[in-house]
Amino acid sequence: MGKVNRRKFIGNLVAYNATVIVGASMLMACAKDTFDGHCNQELEYLPIQDDNPAIAFWKKKCEECGDCIEACATKQTVFGTYLASSSKHVCIHCGSCIIECEEKALTEKYHWQDVLAAIDDPSKIVIASVSPSVRVAIGDYFDMAAGSYLVGNMVGACRAVGFDYVLDTNFSADLTIMEEAGELQKRIEQKTDMPQFTSCCPAWVKYVEIYYPSLLGNLSSVRSPIAMQGSLVKSYFAEKMGINPRNIVHVAITPCSAKKYEITRDELVTDGLRGTDIVITTRELAKMMKNRKVSLTAQTGNFDSLMSAASGAGIIFGNTGGVMRAALRTAYFNITGANAAGNLMELKQVQGLTGLKEAKVAIGLTTLNVAVCYEMRNAKVLLNQVINGTCKYDFVEVMACKGGCVGGAGQPAGSSKIEKRISSLNSADIKASSRYCHENPEIKAAYTYFLGQVGSAKSKKYLHTTYNDKSHLL
Ligand code: SF4
Ligand code: SF4
Ligand code: SF4
Repeated sequence: MGKVNRRKFIGNLVAYNATVIVGASMLMACAKDTFDGHCNQELEYLPIQDDNPAIAFWKKKCEECGDCIEACATKQTVFGTYLASSSKHVCIHCGSCIIECEEKALTEKYHWQDVLAAIDDPSKIVIASVSPSVRVAIGDYFDMAAGSYLVGNMVGACRAVGFDYVLDTNFSADLTIMEEAGELQKRIEQKTDMPQFTSCCPAWVKYVEIYYPSLLGNLSSVRSPIAMQGSLVKSYFAEKMGINPRNIVHVAITPCSAKKYEITRDELVTDGLRGTDIVITTRELAKMMKNRKVSLTAQTGNFDSLMSAASGAGIIFGNTGGVMRAALRTAYFNITGANAAGNLMELKQVQGLTGLKEAKVAIGLTTLNVAVCYEMRNAKVLLNQVINGTCKYDFVEVMACKGGCVGGAGQPAGSSKIEKRISSLNSADIKASSRYCHENPEIKAAYTYFLGQVGSAKSKKYLHTTYNDKSHLL
């Protein structure tokens, strides 16, 4: 698309975004009082500001093609909903603009050198927690076969780089489901704040806070896996290992730019500590390995125990539909007392690269209508249905990235590789010794020795969070 046509296209999108988001009265005010389509159309690139905690703009590399603006406006429906200028930029930190920028003028904010500095500081205990989809994407950086499942090599490489402990965020994916399935059951019984929306994608959470604050009660109050991994590393893990939590530098290794923003949220401070100190992406882990001359294939290793065991349900968290499938397995167990089997295990209807998918699921005497979507353009359809009172769903999974976290902006480039990553995580789920979060022995131990019950006061403190109306940002 030429520059003039692109401008016209973006101008139309901007006008569209400003008029369709009328479900909440706040947004009507936004459209009337602050929207200036002319100003937005004049921009050739996104006005990313220096204080954006997740996204960096390298002006010298920018070719002013406008692809980033188009991605932000079309896929995430953010650009065009506010008066963009060199000093005002609204961002959910999803990184869709990074994925679109072929010139690499947009990247995640780099923090890998901060991690190396912490590793080189003898007074610090540096703990890595690795997200589900990093192990199926790190090989792409080194030109290995797409979707290679490299968990042993990845853990070994983390140790060789210098981390003192290497934990698996899949553990907290299982824990997320324990709490979220309990919450879903309670909402179904009480018929309150339905549908329940998942809350593990911070870009999605911020989107609701900015554009649909009247629906904050529909978001699950459960922290994301990385957020609860952080709070437990500085409490449960530190206590059991006899480490002063103030000496811990907890590093989350993720596929995600938005997690860099998420760890700045004050709602996630527990006992005066931020659970996670630094977030780096899959790409940044690869940069650290290159810097320390660590070969991925030459290394092998196992996770440290206590917060690393995971079921197949935790493994598929990285895929679109994975959180839904994992949650329904445990909800089924909670409601019927038996483990799910058959179609409910794979739930093919909510898998794959379609932006909005749905299924009907029978659990005991209850039939649940569920939906799974990615990118805010699809989520917005459902949000408006809830506002209008026409939403038929009971439980909805939302991720910002195409395909879920396997397609995150911090992964090595190549959207063609997303399907291979999805297949790789699905295979690992099938091969897992258990495919149910509620059977994970380390999860059971965490409840027995630290948290108490699902939904207990201690669980609420370490595993749940709150949300705030951010419509003032518009
Ligand atoms: S996509 Fe990249 S090169 Fe194109 S305008 Fe945006 S920042 Fe510049
Ligand atoms: S990170 Fe997402 S919301 Fe922020 S500018 Fe990029 S595309 Fe838009
Ligand atoms: S889908 Fe996953 S990788 Fe993408 S923004 Fe959300 S949490 Fe991050």
